[in-house]
Order: sequence, then structure tokens, then C-alpha cells
Amino acid sequence: MQSTSTLSINTQEHIDLEEKYGAHNYHPLPVVLNRGEGVFVWDVDGKRYYDFLSGYSAVNQGHCHPKIIAALTRQASELTLTSRAFHSSLLGEYEKIVTTFFGYDKVLPMNTGVEAVETALKLARKWAYEIKNVQPDRAEIVVCQSNFHGRTTGVITFSSDPSAKNNFGPFSEGYTVIPYNNLAALEKSFQNKNVAAFLFEPIQGEAGVLVPDEGYLTGIRDLCNEYNVLMIADEIQTGLARTGKMLACDHENVRPDILILGKALSGGVLPVSAVLADDKIMMTIKPGEHGSTYGGNPLACAVAIAALQVLKDESLSENAAAMGELLRSEIKKLNSPFVALVRGKGLLNAIVIKHRNPEAAWDLCLTLKENGLLAKPTHGDKIRFAPPLLISKEQVMDCVSIIDKSLQALA
Ligand code: PLP
Repeated sequence: MQSTSTLSINTQEHIDLEEKYGAHNYHPLPVVLNRGEGVFVWDVDGKRYYDFLSGYSAVNQGHCHPKIIAALTRQASELTLTSRAFHSSLLGEYEKIVTTFFGYDKVLPMNTGVEAVETALKLARKWAYEIKNVQPDRAEIVVCQSNFHGRTTGVITFSSDPSAKNNFGPFSEGYTVIPYNNLAALEKSFQNKNVAAFLFEPIQGEAGVLVPDEGYLTGIRDLCNEYNVLMIADEIQTGLARTGKMLACDHENVRPDILILGKALSGGVLPVSAVLADDKIMMTIKPGEHGSTYGGNPLACAVAIAALQVLKDESLSENAAAMGELLRSEIKKLNSPFVALVRGKGLLNAIVIKHRNPEAAWDLCLTLKENGLLAKPTHGDKIRFAPPLLISKEQVMDCVSIIDKSLQALA
């Protein structure tokens, strides 16, 4: 546990309130934020930090992007929620924009990422029974070890992280877990005729930014075609310019059958997620079979339209690709004995810490915080470096010197 001796009274009071009245389902860094702009956030004492987490890649467009906030406030005073019991003047417009943007026939709008994952799983099962003719209740979904797709009881069923599962059972059936980045294992799993879909992350984010081998995505596409299995890409974290392309699947020019988006679809403004697919899959779901009170609400539609426009107008994929290259190469140049590995694509990166102290990654994050950069460890020894995508070259270099200084303090 961190030392709290250096925290201001103001900071400590906010932390104490959360500790006393909130569930303890997170272990945050001891910093209390109350403002954000672009790549920066400020704490309650007015100290400025680079945000190297970006709300787990939700804030790709930067904090409080003026065009997204303008869309939010404009729409907030017009109409916020109709439910899907009625039409809204924005839903069709948004649906046309998002499907054209990604090249699919239809979209099913949801809110959080995990809801979109659940939606994709339901769609895949429906397709399996109604189009592929899988025997009733026998549909199987293939997933990867070390996956992260969210926290519902359905989705944790196929998690391989004990802390996500322990004492949350019983779990449901219908999932086969195979190693990530392993096409032979994928093909073996497809020998089961009941396999409906393969759900995967093009880069495993929560697992510590595990980048698969070149050719993995193409290999998945080919096997899914050969065995008539749906390819479901969870691009909630990797999508929307984060990895240097609009979608991580674009790195291999591969088109999934079902595309799942979330997080940066609203630029970090409110929960907006989406499932995209063509008619042959999407039209298997009929009225009353799936839905969400807030899914596709007018406020979300207005915000998502603006968030997509910003990604395109500001060439954020291109900037993420260039700044990611720079960040990784400059960190490698530091030659720190405490950095075992630097990996990533675009601005989805991680360093792996090597130190005799098992708490070193956490300690480094505390030092980074002191030095003006916020990052969070995942799985003990990995630290994700994923700033908003509009970061400039000068800012990257400034961050590298903060990282350098902080790594030296680990000695
Ligand atoms: N899928 C992936 C790949 C994610 O990274 C996340 C969140 O980190 C989710 C799903 C779940 O999204 P949410 O937290 O919005 O439910």
C-alpha cells in the first residue's frame, strides 16, 4: 500500500470519502482529479499531469474536446432520452454515419463496452441457430486465455483471471478457451461443428498490451471463412485510432464479421458502445429480443457523431502511429535496467518492469505521479502508456524525460 504522508489534506479528504462510502472494487492511485483538457488533467490542488491512461483508452480525442462538449451541451438542452419505444431525430442519422464510417450494413447501439460484448455474443448464438443450423443450445464461442471483455456474470465465465471469477460462480456453458496468438489451437477448436464464433482482442490490452504476431489477424479471418465461424473483434480498447489505424484489424486489412466498439466512441464523455455487422447477422435479432433503455439515446448519438468526426478531422490515427513510434524508441534509448520490455502499437503501449521489489511498478507509478505523469500498473509488473492521441512531439519528449527521471529513482 502506498505511503499517504505526502498527500494534501484536500486530497486526503476526498480519498477518505470514497473509502468510507464507496465499494472497494478499485485500487486507484492516490490522486484526486477535478479538471481535464487535451492530454492534461489537474488535481484538486491545481497540479497538472500528463494522462497516460486516457480513461483506459476512452479519451482518445483528449479531455473535454471542445467539439464533442459543444455537441453534448447543444443536444443536452434539446432532448436526451426517448427510449427505443419511439424514434428520435438523431438515431437514424447516427446509424448512417457510424455504419458508413466502418463499412457495415447495420449497427446495434448500446452503452458500456461489456453490454456490447454481450450483444455480440447473443447475435453470434442467434446466427448459429438460425443460419448455421447449430443444434439447439449447443452453440460454442471460442475465446482466448488472458482475455478481457468486461465484468458481467456472462463475460467473466470465460475469463482466465482468478480475481475476476473467484466466488462469482456458477458460470455458464458454451465457451472454449484457447491460447492467444495461436492459429493451430484456433483451427483445432473449429473442429467442433457447434462453434458459432471466435471472440478476440486484436491486441490484448488489459493483459498488458500483448501484440500478436504479424499474420494472426489474417489467419483468423481465413480460418473463420473456411469453417463458417463468425469473427468477432472486440475493438473497445484497440479501436478508434488508438493503435495507429482506425481499427487494429486495419493493420492487416482484415474485416471482422462483428465489430465491437465502445470507450472512445464518445471521447470519454458518456458510455456509448456499438455492435456493427451485416444484415445476414444483424437481422436475426427481432423486436423485443434485445435492447437497452439508454442504447442509442439522442445525447449519445450527438456525442458519438462528433467524436468520430474529431478522430477523422484531426488525423488521430496518423498522429498515434507517429507518436507511438517516437515514444517506444525514446524509452528504449533510455536503456533502463528496470525496463525489461517496451511493446505496443500506436499509442497503446506498455513497459514491463524488472526489479527485485515486486511492488516496483506501483512505486514507479507513484514517482511518475510526483513528477507529473499518471499511469497505472496492470498485472503487477506492467505499466500501460496510452496518452490521448493528440499528444505532440514536444509533449512526448517531455514525458520521456519524466519517465527517465522516475526510472532513475527506482535505483
Ligand atoms: N472489452 C475490452 C477489450 C476492454 O478493454 C474493456 C474495458 O476495459 C471492455 C471490453 C469492457 O468495457 P466497459 O468497461 O465499458 O464495460
